[in-house]
Amino acid sequence: MSEVFVIVEHRLGEIRDITLEMLWKAGELAQEHSYNVTAILLGHEVSSIAETISDRADKIIISDDEQLKNFNADIYKEIIAGLIEESKPGLILIGNTAWGMELAPCLAVRTGFPLATDCIDITFKDGKLTVQRQMFSGKIFSNVSFSSSAGCLLTIRSGVFPKDRIGDRQAQIVQREFSLKEIPQKKDFIEFVETAAGDVDIAQAELLVSVGRGIGEEENISLVRELAEALNGLLSCSRPIVDKNWLPKYLQVGSSGKSVNPKVYVAVGISGAFQHLQGITGAGTVIAINKDPKAPIFRAADYGIVGDLFKIIPVLKEKVLETRKG
Ligand SMILES: Cc1cc2nc3c(=O)[nH]c(=O)nc-3n(C[C@H](O)[C@H](O)[C@H](O)COP(=O)(O)OP(=O)(O)OC[C@H]3O[C@@H](n4cnc5c(N)ncnc54)[C@H](O)[C@@H]3O)c2cc1C
Repeated sequence: MSEVFVIVEHRLGEIRDITLEMLWKAGELAQEHSYNVTAILLGHEVSSIAETISDRADKIIISDDEQLKNFNADIYKEIIAGLIEESKPGLILIGNTAWGMELAPCLAVRTGFPLATDCIDITFKDGKLTVQRQMFSGKIFSNVSFSSSAGCLLTIRSGVFPKDRIGDRQAQIVQREFSLKEIPQKKDFIEFVETAAGDVDIAQAELLVSVGRGIGEEENISLVRELAEALNGLLSCSRPIVDKNWLPKYLQVGSSGKSVNPKVYVAVGISGAFQHLQGITGAGTVIAINKDPKAPIFRAADYGIVGDLFKIIPVLKEKVLETRKG
């Protein structure tokens, strides 16, 4: 194998973090094994996106067409399958996102390549590709290898790799045109619906204060929200808080919520079930506040405070505000 394809994901003119994360991993593999990293960028008026990643890939293949303005798996599949046929990359990385979960399976059928979804690591040893996936809601880590194939498709979980640049590359830009009218399309893009004003994306937050069932009652959540605000962070939560309709689903961290990668993650009254921990593997410093010293969250935490959150949070908030004033 000599080439890794990274399918660039973007929305409304902005590159998605998953692309930078995949480029980081592709760059690491490229450094170790002298592969070339090729980014595939399909869209309309995407030159600023190409600019953003020009030092992270050896080549960027761009197809700029108004018809590519919005993601359409039917069109993407045909274009990417054609590029795969031409360049024969050994590995194709796609985000395990709403886009990727639609694109990757049809690309696998179209190319005949094996597909492993929601991968959390990739290694090559003696030329053999192994990926790591979680099974049974994270109880088991499985190392998956592939039977012989010209190439493999992987979807990559968000937040498991850094967004940083790795190595020093200068991409050759290759503009391509495709005859899109001939591609049969089963779907039409209607409109992009923005999340309601005031909504937040916890996956992008640098600091999260997360509230769990230990909060007891809905009205107590304001206590944790105030701490999050004092720290200039965002409020997030565990699943029971969403199940009770106390906070919206988009604030849920974990396997059936969002994977987050803040620099600091504060878990308040959260036990640390593996489904929750799965969502914070990309977090930097984890601080846990829990009255049970045996709570599993302490095994994942860098700092732990054992005690009653109703006593700890107000003091902590005051200290933070005092420090900010001083
Ligand atoms: C398929 C599946 C997917 C799931 N996905 C997710 C997911 O995405 N995210 C998620 O979070 N969960 C998920 N879960 C649920 C998960 O298994 C746990 O049930 C959940 O994470 C527990 O949430 P919690 O820690 O807030 O509550 P609990 O487990 O009830 O923990 C509450 C904690 O608060 C502490 N506490 C209580 N009172 C206080 C106090 N006064 N001061 C300090 N500490 C206190 C307790 O000691 C306890 O550790 C999923 C489950 C399944 C089956």
